[in-house]
Formats: sequence, structure tokens, C-alpha cells
Amino acid sequence: MKNLIKNKQFKWLTHTFICALFWIVGFTLSDFIKTPVASFTDVVMVATHMTTILLASWTLITLLSTLPTIVFTILYAFITLLASILAFYRYTMGFSLNTMILDIVFQNDIAISADMVTWEVFVWVCFATLCGTLLALLRRLYTIDWHSKWTYFVLVVSVCGLIIFLNPNGRFARPISERIPFNLYAVTKKHFEEKQEISKERPRCFKVATTSVDSLTVVVVIGEALRPQNMSINGYERSTTPNLERLGAISYDNVYSKYVYTNRSVPHILTRADSANIQYAYTERSFIDVFKAAGYFTTFIANQDAEKSYVYFMNEADTCFRANTSKTVYNFEKWLDEDMLPYYISTINDNSPRQLVLLHCIGSHWWYNSHYSDDYKIYTPVITSRILSNCDSMAMVNSYDNTVCYTDFFLSQIIEPLQNRNAIVIFLSDHGEALGENGKWLHASESEAMHSTAAFVWFSPLYAKQFPQFVEQAENNRHKKWRTDFLYHSVIDAGHITTDVMDTTLSIFR
Ligand SMILES: [Zn+2]
Repeated sequence: MKNLIKNKQFKWLTHTFICALFWIVGFTLSDFIKTPVASFTDVVMVATHMTTILLASWTLITLLSTLPTIVFTILYAFITLLASILAFYRYTMGFSLNTMILDIVFQNDIAISADMVTWEVFVWVCFATLCGTLLALLRRLYTIDWHSKWTYFVLVVSVCGLIIFLNPNGRFARPISERIPFNLYAVTKKHFEEKQEISKERPRCFKVATTSVDSLTVVVVIGEALRPQNMSINGYERSTTPNLERLGAISYDNVYSKYVYTNRSVPHILTRADSANIQYAYTERSFIDVFKAAGYFTTFIANQDAEKSYVYFMNEADTCFRANTSKTVYNFEKWLDEDMLPYYISTINDNSPRQLVLLHCIGSHWWYNSHYSDDYKIYTPVITSRILSNCDSMAMVNSYDNTVCYTDFFLSQIIEPLQNRNAIVIFLSDHGEALGENGKWLHASESEAMHSTAAFVWFSPLYAKQFPQFVEQAENNRHKKWRTDFLYHSVIDAGHITTDVMDTTLSIFR
């Protein structure tokens, strides 16, 4: 034992392990503190994730420790400083680092960033960085034996470990890259990839776009994982959409989405991409550009993290607001669509006579309980674990239905302020959701339920009076089979825009 402790390799690996443990206990833990844990397997899963991050940190620090002590200390202290900042806001405000936060910090609003620097964060960060620096300086107490084959063995294992842990297509990539400290690298990389995507020039795909209407508000709501089967407006036995029914929305119960996950579906439905031309989703502008050309003021309000596949369109609008800028899929606190309402109300109350407002909801995204307010915990018992196999089927459906009830409430808040205006609301969910059909749950795999997606349209009394033939045709078309391709053309048609890019056969108003 005595020999072992004197052993250089032992001192080296013990030191790097303690350095890694300091990060995990000090900072990474903040990412797990609110994870719902309902059973022993939940505990095992949290422990597995934390152990994986510990091992990834250990291999990284072991490799860094081969640098000169001063360089190693500076690097370790710097990462500790950044990680301590993230952990502070995660603990105190539930913030997770994502690209929107980097946008705010780097560019948009230095004043907001400055407001968040309090003496508490200053004291915590100084203390954590001091501890990290002292810990890193222990590197001086030993030397790495470059004559030993064990040294090379350790380094080869570390390099292989790091490659396995950080391989973007590997199974560890997501749980590690979205947690402290690895999210520092992953999110910064994603931020610059998005910036690159926005800066790519996409050509205009039409020659002309004009409108004869003087005053009109077109609202497009992109829903999330809302399945038509669980809406009472389509005949579901539970009263999940009483507001849509009361307000006279026309629901489409036979809409097919080619894609079953957000990143592929959203660019597809915002552009004129269809089954024959799927590439348009990545090469062309969206209908927002058509509205801009026709003299509409356009606004994008997002309640989901920007993704490389659709960040271009968020930037295409004249204005973009982002609610819940601090959430990622590993947040389990409330993340509600009503947080978009203040932006929405101020947008429709500005003086632009012609407006296109696009809202991107978090809707019925997993983890369901996070996406409805306490008032909408209507069906019980609800799920308590975030591991699918630990969730009871009935509780899954209850939690899901609560998100539908909440979405119905949210949509009523979108529609009500438009009652006395010339306005139209078009809703389309990005895809459906499986709730146990053939043993399938959620989305992003393959099941009929995932392809079946919710859609509806609402006309204000003024709009219905002005364009009665639109209402009539919308009614006539409600049970026809549509692909989500209808959205692009129908939205342009709803805005009464004359343009060479619109295909009237794909409009639900014809
Ligand atoms: Zn989605």
C-alpha cells in the first residue's frame, strides 16, 4: 500500500480524479438536482449519467495534466470559473446553457447580462475558482514518468475514452454534451454553427408578392407533438379542447406529417418543400419572406430552443422574440407556452396594419408535466418518473391530456384578443405522438400515430364576413386527407397575397 501511494502513476491519476470529482460535485450536480426520481431505476439512471460525466471529465483532465503545470492550472481554473457561473444560475434560477443565452450574452442585450451579475454570484465564482486553482496547483507535487509504459497506456485509454464519450453520434454524446462542464464546448460550437446557417444566403423563390388588403392579422401557430386523436374537437371522449369548440375553430382530422420530429418537420412546413422537393427546406426561404414582400410586418415568437435546421427562419422575420431562453430538454421545471403571451400581446397591439405573427410552441413535448400549469393538472394520476418504462400507461395518457387541455387554454389566449379584428389563426402541429399504439411511445421513431398531426383554423367574425367563401371551403375541406405541405400555400392564401409561388390546389381555402 505504501509503495502504491508513493507510486507516481497513483498520485497522478488520484489527482486528476479529484479534480474531476470537484467539477461533478460542485457544478454538474446542479443539472440533476431537479430530475424527477420516483423509483430505484430512476436513481440508477441519474447515477449512471453522473458517473459517465465523471469518467469523461477524468479522461479530459488526465490529458490536460500532461501540459506544463502553469498551463494546466490556468486551463483548469478557467473551465472551473465558467462551470461555476453556469452552476450558480442552474441552482438559483433553473437556467441551462443554450444557444439563445449565448446570443443574449454575446450580442443582444448586455444590459440584461449586467443585471444578472449580483454580489452572490461574484462571491460564489471567486470561491469556486480559488478552490479550483489550489486543486490544480497540486499538480506540482508529482511528475509524470515518461519512461514508463503505463503512462502511455493511461494516455491511450484516456484518448479512446474521450473519443467514445464525445462522439457526436454515440450514445453518450447527448447526456454529456448538454451537462456542465461539457455544455460549454457543445453549446458554443452549436451557437457558431447556427450563426453560419443564418449567414448563408437563400434566394427568393418568387417574382411577385402583393396584397390588396389594408388591415389583416395572420397568426400561424406551430404546435408540438399534438395528436388529433386526443382532442375533443375531433371526437375524443375527454373534454380536452372546450375553448376551441366554443370559439368555433375548424379542425382538420386527417393531416399527415412526413417527418416525426421537430428538427426535420419545422423547416419542411415553413417552406414550400413537399415530397418531391424536400431540399427546399434547406435551400429556400419560408412564407415569412412572401409576407414581407407583400408589405406585412412579420414577427417570430419562439418557445423552443433554436435549432440549426430552422434558425434561419427565426432570423427571417422582422422581429424575433424568444421566451424561456434558459431551457433545454434536461430541464424539468415548468416551461409553459403562456410565457410567449406578453410578446404576442405587445406585437398585435403595435400599429402595423398588416401583420404575420408566427408562434413556435413547446406544446405537448415530453416531459409532459413540465408543459402545463398546475391549474391544468386535470387528469390524475400523472407520471412521476422520466424513464418511460417506469411510467404507467394511464398516467402517461393523463399527463399528455393535461398538455392538450393546457394548449387549448393557451390557444384561446391567442384567439380572444383577435375577436374584433380582421384576423385568422392557422394551427399546425409539427407531428403527432404515439401513446402506446403497438408498444410505441412519444415520437421520433416510426408509428402511424406520430405521422398523424393536429391542425385547425379560426376566423374572426370580421374575416368571415369579408371572405365567406374561405370559411365555406375551409369547412368543406376539414375531413380531406392533407399533407402538412398545405401550410405554406394556405397561409399565403389566408393573407390574400397574389404571388407566383402559391399553388392554390394546396390551399385549404379553395
Ligand atoms: Zn416536435
